[in-house]
Amino acid sequence: MPAIDIDPYRASEGLFECVGCGSRTQSGSHPGTCPSCGNHVQNLSVSRE
Ligand SMILES: [Zn+2]
Repeated sequence: MPAIDIDPYRASEGLFECVGCGSRTQSGSHPGTCPSCGNHVQNLSVSRE
């Protein structure tokens, strides 16, 4: 059977989501903290090579 493994965020830019308010930011580098609420943001686009 065909293995479908599509990662929509395998781009050069990373996608980051705030753990506090859930707002997402697309950036080439880790923004550090959420610009809206200052909470920690996590990287949703972990590269798998
Ligand atoms: Zn936030």
